[in-house]
Amino acid sequence: MDTQTMLSSQDLMQMEDKYGAHNYHPLPVVLSRGEGVFVWDVEGKKYYDFLSAYSAVNQGHCHPDIIAALNNQAKTLTLTSRAFYNDMLGPYEKYITEYFGFDKVLPINSGVEAVETALKLCRKWAYEKKGIPSNQAKIIFASGNFHGRTLAVISASQDPNARNNFGPYLPGVDVINYNDLEALEKALQDSNVAGFIVEPIQGEAGVFVPDEGYLSGAKALCEKYNALFIADEVQTGIARTGRLLATCGNCDCGSHCEKRPEIKPDILILGKALSGGVFPVSAVLANDDIMMCIKPGEHGSTFGGNPLACAVAIAALEVVKNENLAENAMALGKVFRSRMQSLVEKSDLVKLVRGKGLLNAIVINDTEDSKTAWNLCVAMKDNGLIAKPTHGNIIRFAPPLVITEEQLHACCDIIEKTILAYEK
Ligand code: PLP
Repeated sequence: MDTQTMLSSQDLMQMEDKYGAHNYHPLPVVLSRGEGVFVWDVEGKKYYDFLSAYSAVNQGHCHPDIIAALNNQAKTLTLTSRAFYNDMLGPYEKYITEYFGFDKVLPINSGVEAVETALKLCRKWAYEKKGIPSNQAKIIFASGNFHGRTLAVISASQDPNARNNFGPYLPGVDVINYNDLEALEKALQDSNVAGFIVEPIQGEAGVFVPDEGYLSGAKALCEKYNALFIADEVQTGIARTGRLLATCGNCDCGSHCEKRPEIKPDILILGKALSGGVFPVSAVLANDDIMMCIKPGEHGSTFGGNPLACAVAIAALEVVKNENLAENAMALGKVFRSRMQSLVEKSDLVKLVRGKGLLNAIVINDTEDSKTAWNLCVAMKDNGLIAKPTHGNIIRFAPPLVITEEQLHACCDIIEKTILAYEK
């Protein structure tokens, strides 16, 4: 019996509520199918997806090339562990390092695992190359950061929901203001600082875009004080912000960055869209002087670098290049912000729009602890578009990058209609 097709949205929500941990608060919609920019709920209602699984589905739901790669590889070999070589890992490592312009990759699974890997790599480098005395290394984080949910990264979080009653926290982390080069320079003067980790645009915090020159300035300061510049591009990377990487700055090389990123991180962290949202694939990229600090047995994961992940990631990155997703994100991001800007002018409820490429947010004229953004997202869902608030007064909009201009206008119409109706 196919039980799932017999259960209503209500039944399925109740089931999650009863049997699953309550560590999420989803919008009340139960999805059962996805294709491109669309998803369908179990009753067959169609929605535009304006979250893309937090920017993991940049290539669109169930992209046929990625699914074909998944299916072909799944029939052949899925997992060997790293106890043995496999015939997909080497070609994938060559492909991804050439794609992003680094000597080496360390393949891993989820975004936060890649962040943890980067932090460990940074500490290793600090002791073995920079000469920081044993157990003294510090890593600087930015205020408002979001790097995932493990103990190490919540130790640097300032979000009470992420931190409260999960202590004791990891030592060796300091937090300075985001978008503040003076604070960074002051922090870097401590010779025990091993590195600075930063999101080029803070997605979870509410799509905060730093000032022009912040990232390049931070990279230059890290160089000056011999600390590693670590870019967490788990959410911003892979074409989301209109460039292959948000650290690509203003270089004009189109969707596939043939040049090195303009601001080249010492360590680059990728996840989410590296698999097109098909399953967890993440990566840490660095050059040999850093990556070779990790020796056999010092770090790893059973699933990291599995053949299925390698096949899927190559297919997912090919789609980004072949379908010019960064260019599309760049062009349509401008259209989106201009439509939202005209809404700001018409509406008392929408205070501002901000973002880059197709990673954008609107800020609602209400307090952070209000329910307005949530209520608006429920109303948009009823009108056929799903998005999620990040904080009580911010709504992030991040559609799959395969969206067309016509579809984007239809979505802007839904957003506008919903907000103007809500105001009345
Ligand atoms: N880093 C950033 C910038 C993120 O936005 C996220 C997730 O939203 C993560 C890390 C963690 O990724 P994951 O949820 O795959 O562990």
